Amino acid sequence: MTDLIDAATADLPNFVSHLECSKTGERLEAGRLHNLSPAGAPILVRYDLDGVRGALTKETLAGRAPNFWRYRELLPVRDAANIAALGEEMTPLIRLRHSTDGHAIVKDEGRLPTGSFKARGLALAIAMAKELGVTRVAIPTNGNAGAAMAAYASRAGIESYVFCPADTPAINIRETELQGAHVWKVNGLINDCGRIVTEGEEPMGWFNLSTLKEPYRIEGKKTMGFELAEQLGWELPEVIFYPTGGGTGLIGMWKAFDELEAIGLIGSKRPRMVAVQADGCAPIVKAFEAGEEHAELWQDAHTVAAGIRVPVAIGDFLILRALRESGGYAVAVSDEAILDARERIGREDGLLICPEGAATVAAYFQALEDGTVGRDERAVLFNCGNGLKYPMPSEERALDLAQPVDWQAIGAV
Ligand SMILES: *Cc1c(COP(=O)(O)O)cnc(C)c1O
Repeated sequence: MTDLIDAATADLPNFVSHLECSKTGERLEAGRLHNLSPAGAPILVRYDLDGVRGALTKETLAGRAPNFWRYRELLPVRDAANIAALGEEMTPLIRLRHSTDGHAIVKDEGRLPTGSFKARGLALAIAMAKELGVTRVAIPTNGNAGAAMAAYASRAGIESYVFCPADTPAINIRETELQGAHVWKVNGLINDCGRIVTEGEEPMGWFNLSTLKEPYRIEGKKTMGFELAEQLGWELPEVIFYPTGGGTGLIGMWKAFDELEAIGLIGSKRPRMVAVQADGCAPIVKAFEAGEEHAELWQDAHTVAAGIRVPVAIGDFLILRALRESGGYAVAVSDEAILDARERIGREDGLLICPEGAATVAAYFQALEDGTVGRDERAVLFNCGNGLKYPMPSEERALDLAQPVDWQAIGAV
């Protein structure tokens, strides 16, 4: 098996044809650094898909290691030496056997390096930054993106700076520091942190790795779509519930499905895409329901699901377009429903999911109830982070060795 993790240096098959502005379609040159397009919109990577069609087949895939570098023909990295790999294993699909009728499957992204799917995007963004000569990077984060960036940047020998809201869970701040980043807490929200990263570009000389403000994180995130299709035998599910902050994963998967169809690995069937947000921060839901193309800044954003506390998303129009093209929708759930769902999935199915993942479960239950999703439809719910990284309630009970054990009391709870 070819395993890129052990490749010291190797030219990779590269089919990138050009970059493209997601708003105007303007062609931009690959092979040099970009943030937003001249029109101020996210930049997408385009491939010579006819070329990829002959190179990336079910047979080629069969001989490759089970990590996301197996889709290398549809990834932008040219030289494997620029990849700082940490074990990007394919994440499992886990059926919710007990808490549902068994038609809901969790894709558990919490198994990735640094405990969240942010590893996918940042593994790619850092590899490309390395390839294009970057030596210092910075990012605004609600926790997981900063940790992933720190890990890959340190491994690649790139210096990193992370800015997060002051109430980011302490565990995220500490893991990020331990992985070598300079972390700063900011008394604001992620968009305020984003402004600091942009303002620092000139005085600090760092490359800005904010969500969708460089072209490559989305290329990493789209591998969720490749994996899902391959794991389901190249037959996509009826519906996908995705916890949506900046929306990179949703936009990325939607792009991935088009690429897979263009190279003949799947047909034209698409899942309905559902963007799940928290009712304390639901700009995409509001814009979707109002029929708008862009979302307004959400005021006083708050939710226990930190990863989706994103008051404004630069790729809002791309998220909304994917939802509408797919026949899906956007929905908000309460923090109470999120915490209930987390508890229920743990208790009934033995799976500790993160609050953002629990939001998708809550939205799924709601959809079953109001009939938006049929009980026999196959639904994939994304759990994007490891449940262990989040604050958890505790119910401590203690035994005193100086006393006889009270078995009745133990049996009573
Ligand atoms: C970042 C994050 C999200 C939101 O992902 P986007 O693709 O940016 O919308 C959801 N869940 C977790 C755990 C995250 O870290």
